[in-house]
Amino acid sequence: MKLIIGLHHAHEQHWVGDGFPVRTLFSYQSMGEELSPFLMLDYASPTAFSPSTVAKGVGPHPHRGFETVTIAYEGELAHKDSAGNAGTIGPGDVQWMTAGAGILHEEMHSAQFTQRGGMLSMAQLWVNLPAKQKTPPPGYQAIEAQQIPTIHLENDQGTARLIAGDYAGFSGPAKTHTAMHVWDLRIKKGAVISLPAPNHWNAALAILRGQVETDKGVAGDASLIVFSRAGTGIEVSASQDTHALFLSGEPIPDPVVGYGPFVMNTKAEIAKAIEDFNEGRFGRLD
Ligand code: MN
Repeated sequence: MKLIIGLHHAHEQHWVGDGFPVRTLFSYQSMGEELSPFLMLDYASPTAFSPSTVAKGVGPHPHRGFETVTIAYEGELAHKDSAGNAGTIGPGDVQWMTAGAGILHEEMHSAQFTQRGGMLSMAQLWVNLPAKQKTPPPGYQAIEAQQIPTIHLENDQGTARLIAGDYAGFSGPAKTHTAMHVWDLRIKKGAVISLPAPNHWNAALAILRGQVETDKGVAGDASLIVFSRAGTGIEVSASQDTHALFLSGEPIPDPVVGYGPFVMNTKAEIAKAIEDFNEGRFGRLD
């Protein structure tokens, strides 16, 4: 069994653009080694938006060197990028974007959600790419809720939606560059659940909403339980109905040097990314 090596609470909320009031559950700047290949997780808990004529969100910005995974829980989000991809995701849908060599995109509330208003809730996970595959052509996987297998946990203690990775003979639809589990969990109050995670993989459980008891204390809304790389599998007990993201993966050993929307391996690569962006080499949004 993996041991719990950290329990972190995200208290501070900040806005991404004017559309996403998020709390950052972890970032590679403070937890790079323990969370690799995962770089960052932002969570926007359910927030009400009034009807509007102007879409909120975050306008055109670049990324290079990693992937952004957006999971919609409530409301509707619209994406558009310089590789010519566009899409709208609603509750349960996932957008797995490979920034790779470089992309410009915008992330907005959808036109329909903007007009109607309502509750919005989402998460965005950043996933690193290994040095040898840092700059593939940009990619975009639109994953609809119905493509994601829902596994019933033992003794009806909850469910796991497999976004990426394999469990109980089922496979998540996301194509990844390294081996990982990204599972969206609903755990029932009183459940004690065990989840598989190979020895030498990193593992963390992000508690979005709910409550989980640990030997390091209580993990409530917007908190993160970090497990040891050594050991096989994790076990936790939920003291409330809980919505969580289970993240586990083979660590990427390469150095991580990041600056804003770029995550590379060296300072020189970051300088090049900034130069390329300033020179307009990330393409454009039509
Ligand atoms: Mn972005």
